[in-house]
Amino acid sequence: MRMFCPICEEVHDVQVIQQEEPVTVRGEQYLAIARYYRCPESGEEFETSDSPFDPLADAYYQYRERHKMLTPEKIRSFRHEYELTQKELSDLLGWGAVTLSRYENGSLQDFSHDNQLQLAMIPENLIQLINRNSDALSKDKSNRLLDILTGKRGARNTTLECVEKKLISKKPSIWNGFRKFNIEKFMGVVEFFCSELETYPTKLNKLLFYSDFLHYRENTVSITGALYAHAPWGPVPDDFKTLLAMMEEELAIFQSEEIAFEGKAYTGVTLTILTNDHITALDTDEIETLRSILKTLGHLSSSELSKLSHGENAYKETTQGELITYEYAEFLDGIKAGVS
Ligand SMILES: [Zn+2]
Repeated sequence: MRMFCPICEEVHDVQVIQQEEPVTVRGEQYLAIARYYRCPESGEEFETSDSPFDPLADAYYQYRERHKMLTPEKIRSFRHEYELTQKELSDLLGWGAVTLSRYENGSLQDFSHDNQLQLAMIPENLIQLINRNSDALSKDKSNRLLDILTGKRGARNTTLECVEKKLISKKPSIWNGFRKFNIEKFMGVVEFFCSELETYPTKLNKLLFYSDFLHYRENTVSITGALYAHAPWGPVPDDFKTLLAMMEEELAIFQSEEIAFEGKAYTGVTLTILTNDHITALDTDEIETLRSILKTLGHLSSSELSKLSHGENAYKETTQGELITYEYAEFLDGIKAGVS
């Protein structure tokens, strides 16, 4: 096939070599599929970093299968089943912050960690873990989980179903900016900001709020149809946690918990976007609104944005937990303030 040859530093025909090669994992030999290329001019071989064949990952899967260990997908789906964040599950297990994140991303887990996880997947054991580590979860969350685990409550719907029930079913009104909640557009806006900026949840919240409200002011309709509520750090999309979980499930977003805290304004989480195919759900005038928000507010930190949003009537005249009507869009002055 024709491709860039790093040896000659030019594009020419190269030979594709795909073969099984031995990989050693913890002292055991596995045969994994590897792919590399041979330059016919020089006779030298080279690899590319974007090859779909990762021999080590392949060998890890074989190793896990042989030793009846959990796959990264299985670990992730267990966590999602109970709507636990990486931090919550780590705290329940008494693990450090990054361990679980590494396993979910393909690192090969320790035997002892794997045993712990598999045991935690048995409902009776998970109940014990929750009862024994009362600090790991909020009271609400642990009560809800215990209800599910003891059969008092049915298992959760998928987050997508939750979102549909809570948001999409709502008719256009002043509470959603006269648009039914639109998942595609919502993910499009998130993709837009995450691809332009390093984004934390607190910051993303505010950018979403300003985007929807500004667009409503200029076009009498919001972009995403999200409802916004008054929260301690400013206005947030109602059910933001469910929305984040939904996006994580739909693979639109990955919450990395390896990053340090940003000031005091909440969160050890940065958001990394894995897709960019929802941006196409946005119209030209919606993109224009996002660009203007990016230009005026994108450079502000989470805490600066929080402060700014605290000055809005939309925030000052509502109380904790209360929904914010789009009527407040008229009085938005953060956009101007952000320019200075
Ligand atoms: Zn060459």
